[in-house]
Amino acid sequence: MKITGIELRRIAMPLVAPFRTSFGTETARDVLLVRVVTPEAEGWGECVAMSEPLYSPEYVDGAAEAMRRFLIPALPDQADAQAAGRALAPFKGHRMAKAALETAVLDAQLRARGESLAAYLGAVADRVPCGVSIGIMGSIPELLDTVEGYLAQGYIRIKLKIQPGWDVAPVRAVRERFGPELPLQVDANAAYTLADAPHLARLDAFDLLLIEQPLADDDIVQHAALARRITTPICLDESIESAEHAAAAITLGACSIINVKPGRVGGYLEARRIHDLARAHGVALWCGGMLETGIGRAANVALAALPGFTLPGDTSASRRYFATDITPPFELNDGHLDVPTGPGIGVDPVPDILDEVTTSVEWITR
Ligand SMILES: [Mg+2]
Repeated sequence: MKITGIELRRIAMPLVAPFRTSFGTETARDVLLVRVVTPEAEGWGECVAMSEPLYSPEYVDGAAEAMRRFLIPALPDQADAQAAGRALAPFKGHRMAKAALETAVLDAQLRARGESLAAYLGAVADRVPCGVSIGIMGSIPELLDTVEGYLAQGYIRIKLKIQPGWDVAPVRAVRERFGPELPLQVDANAAYTLADAPHLARLDAFDLLLIEQPLADDDIVQHAALARRITTPICLDESIESAEHAAAAITLGACSIINVKPGRVGGYLEARRIHDLARAHGVALWCGGMLETGIGRAANVALAALPGFTLPGDTSASRRYFATDITPPFELNDGHLDVPTGPGIGVDPVPDILDEVTTSVEWITR
């Protein structure tokens, strides 16, 4: 497949409400979209790097620079996704940038031959159950109202962002208000240390599905130590950037669950490797989110339909984040999202909407 050119497009997407985590508050999403053009088809990829390097070392300006300066020039003249992945591998890190580029190549490749991403990855479901991630709120009453609103929309699992000072009390309040049957989990985004183990053990009383990334990204050994001191299952997010990391974490007993984000691990091919590895070891998976537009969401929903994804993901409806998505919106149907069935990622941006939110376009001829 000959790549004739690549478009880097920046868009600005206001969020419907500020999203607060232990590392910061977001009010808008600055997104880098990649469009790969070939004679047979075009393909789209969404870079999930954020404006600032707070979730991970990557940030959106840096991802654009890595693409234009190193990654795009390294692509072979004739490239499928596997060849693209091999060509990008020598460059250290920059997994979110690589993932966006590789996904755009893969999307073009699959569109050219009329195959859906879900079928290509090995999906076994035609719809996936959806959870919702709820940011840190100003007060417990505000939190309870927010949870109630999402449950009314049909979300079947609630995830609360936590940090020191906002952990046991909000979890207790949600558990007491909505009962023991509510599938409930928490995400600390690396806000604690192993010294907090006795405090984190207080969450064991609330029968959580999991606690996500309680300790720092590079604390895989400490996560294994924490796993011996609390009964709530540990799920890793930020720590897992590759199948090798997943293998190490599983071997050490650092997690029993992995949140898979294709951008964080360098793309859907690596995400599938992690899937196969985790499934072989009985480690449960679910698909996380990075406040994606419909472009990234479509591909995530395809991944979440693989058989190892046994827990509801953060693959929420478009309107959880955006009043107007750049694709036809993903909508909840009985707590589920339908897996796109069209060729490639199965969705396209709506041109007028895309133009409205575009802040810059850069065309790179090959
Ligand atoms: Mg997380």
